[in-house]
Amino acid sequence: MVLIDTHTHLYLDDYKDDIQEVVNNAIQNNVEYFLLPNIDGSTINKMNALCKLYPERMFPMIGLHPTSVKDNYMQELLTIRHELLTNKYYGIGEIGIDLHWDKSFRKEQEFVLRYQLELAKEFNLPIAIHTRSSFEEAIEIVQEVKDENLRGVFHCFGGSYQQALDIIEMGFFLGIGGVITFKNSGLDKVIDHISLENIILESDAPYLTPSPHRGLRNESSYLTLIAQKIAESKEISIEEVARITTKNAVELFNIKIVE
Ligand SMILES: [Zn+2]
Repeated sequence: MVLIDTHTHLYLDDYKDDIQEVVNNAIQNNVEYFLLPNIDGSTINKMNALCKLYPERMFPMIGLHPTSVKDNYMQELLTIRHELLTNKYYGIGEIGIDLHWDKSFRKEQEFVLRYQLELAKEFNLPIAIHTRSSFEEAIEIVQEVKDENLRGVFHCFGGSYQQALDIIEMGFFLGIGGVITFKNSGLDKVIDHISLENIILESDAPYLTPSPHRGLRNESSYLTLIAQKIAESKEISIEEVARITTKNAVELFNIKIVE
């Protein structure tokens, strides 16, 4: 069984003292490959340095996170464009709209999302979309600019059955993470009605730690808890969950793995 963590921020300082242990622990738990979404200009070098240490296992994405959209957003976008022209990236991420904490850059967030969707089209890369208190806003923009090549994942999906259908209708994946293990999240009930063909797995480490480790730092090794929860809820084997979600991730991000 091979699992792919399609969304993990292992380059953050949370792991600076024990990153090797964290990666080894993940691999021992069958979590063998990692997609690393960027946050902003301050994280690019750290992310790429880590990927260079694990060139066959770690795959970087490039993008400007909506909560990092500030006055200097145009400079940030030009940095991303420059990176795309000079380095290998496997996706545009993470991008999106976040209206949970700060709405003052709402217009700029929309502009930045649209700009990065155009980058995804231009460079033919999948997108990792972040939404928080902004699902309708974000999906409307993606639907509007989508062409037949644009593909991606709504990362950290925690929405309704109808929202799941809207994502699938566009040919996008649901990124399922720790939320599905939370009591009363209701996400397991939604996912019971969704085919595994539409799902990829993610930790979003160091955030969104699954039960029973809530309150602690998240790690990619905990991805097995998410796969196990989906397997139990759907009454299938964890190997089946791994097989299909791994195949989906390989196809979406166009990565090479050894099974
Ligand atoms: Zn993230």
